[in-house]
Amino acid sequence: MGVAAIVDTVAQRLARASLSQAEDRARRYVLRHFADTGRAPGLAELRRELQLSSEEDAAAVLTRLHEADLIVYDATTERITAAYPFSGKPTGHRVEIGDRTLHALCAIDALGIPSMLDAPGVIRSECFWCHAPIGVHVEGGVVAAHWPAGVVAWYPEKDSCGCTATSRCILINFFCSEGHLGAWRKANPREEGTALNLQEAVEAGRMIFGELLRS
Ligand SMILES: [Zn+2]
Repeated sequence: MGVAAIVDTVAQRLARASLSQAEDRARRYVLRHFADTGRAPGLAELRRELQLSSEEDAAAVLTRLHEADLIVYDATTERITAAYPFSGKPTGHRVEIGDRTLHALCAIDALGIPSMLDAPGVIRSECFWCHAPIGVHVEGGVVAAHWPAGVVAWYPEKDSCGCTATSRCILINFFCSEGHLGAWRKANPREEGTALNLQEAVEAGRMIFGELLRS
């Protein structure tokens, strides 16, 4: 089965959302801001960037992006907590691009960041079973190096409840070996999904995120 058959891509959600020009500018600005600084922009920054008349208007645009499951916007705190593939909070999936360290929502999101930004990157994470360190160097859309030798990724079945970040992402992880993925599956027999080798996982990341900042 090809990777295309299992991934629910952000690009598909973006196409379904039919964003206005201003909403799409906001979406790109949020992603660029995460990529450049490692954090989300605030309402004041977004208002300035989009030349909106008020922060309420900026909040309305973010609410729209949240409803399309393109970002996670907390209306109570008025903060963006995530914008796929980026997390506003530190996670176990870090991506080093140049001199920046970015935090990804999950293993596949981390692998997709170099493709989305058209830049080489090093993903650092850990085995979801034994916590052994895992590293993957992605360059030109392929795996240039990785450690340890047997790294695999787990991609869960589609989940219909809640936004992706809070339901599905938490189970998209790396394992140091097929053996440790097997041990985790044995301990969690109700979890359905697909084991991906690293190149398949990079391909999934590219499919989900590769086009998000292209015009
Ligand atoms: Zn392990």
